[in-house]
Amino acid sequence: MNGHASLSEVKRYYPYSQYLLDTFGGKTYKIVVASGLTCPTRDGKLAKAGCAFCDVRGSSSFFGKKGRGGSVQEQILKRLPEIRDRFSATRFLAYFQSYTNTYSDVNYLREIYEAALAVPEIQGLCIGTRPDCLPPAVLELLEELAQKTYVSLELGVQSFENSTLDWLVRGHDRDCSLDALERLRTHAPSVHVCVHLMFGSPTDSISGAREAAQILNQAGIRGVKLHQLMILENTELAERFRAQPFPTLELSDYAEKVSEFIDHLSPKIYLERLCATATHKEECIAPAWSRQRWEPHNVIRSVLEKNGTLQGRFSAEQAQGT
Ligand code: SF4
Repeated sequence: MNGHASLSEVKRYYPYSQYLLDTFGGKTYKIVVASGLTCPTRDGKLAKAGCAFCDVRGSSSFFGKKGRGGSVQEQILKRLPEIRDRFSATRFLAYFQSYTNTYSDVNYLREIYEAALAVPEIQGLCIGTRPDCLPPAVLELLEELAQKTYVSLELGVQSFENSTLDWLVRGHDRDCSLDALERLRTHAPSVHVCVHLMFGSPTDSISGAREAAQILNQAGIRGVKLHQLMILENTELAERFRAQPFPTLELSDYAEKVSEFIDHLSPKIYLERLCATATHKEECIAPAWSRQRWEPHNVIRSVLEKNGTLQGRFSAEQAQGT
């Protein structure tokens, strides 16, 4: 069977919208909710200042356990009506987005996840976390929930290259990510894993994007989210950049990396996002194109068109004709 059978003629990759249609039968909206948790790169376990690219504002713009936003259910019930009215939405997922949302004892995690699922309109969970925060008890809980409801784990891998992981001060290495992916595949197979990757660190190798696709093709994951390295105010990268500027990717070069990645990625894996837009434009130092909303998408689309990109055309699966 041709691996592109589920892709329409005009689609060069498997988009998230199609995955949502395949999974839920229609559009589904994420309601961002705060868990009240922190990160091992923020609480002093591994570091105190966070990963080098992570802005405090971006990762702390929501509410703590007992903070301003109230309980998990209060947060959801506060936001849900606006999203429902604005988009005529009927399907919702609770999205634990900021910080590391598995970085706690398993009883607290069960409490907050089940609190979100107790809201009748919530059809599942999206849980953002890091590869080094998935001990066996957490995987067991995730698998238990995923056998009853939809659970997507948004796993911040960022890179499979140790030089880049060190440069980003991630506090974990490539083997840690590979081990987490393998344990998720074997111990939590019902969980839909979506891997987050970042392209554009000066330490990235030329073949990094292609190799990342090749690793992910074997990992049993469902999706990928791509974003470019951005230098944001209030981060370690901003300080380094001011002290000694380093190059960031031109938009056309980033688009070529995305194109190569898609060509090598299995067509079974959805792409949730091809690039990021700086939430607070005035706080984005570089690359400047990150401040624009539509131009990057247009350029990426035209590069995919120019290259004849087709998801998986260079993947091993495709070569074997499966
Ligand atoms: S990138 Fe993720 S793990 Fe790192 S400091 Fe930010 S929220 Fe925490």
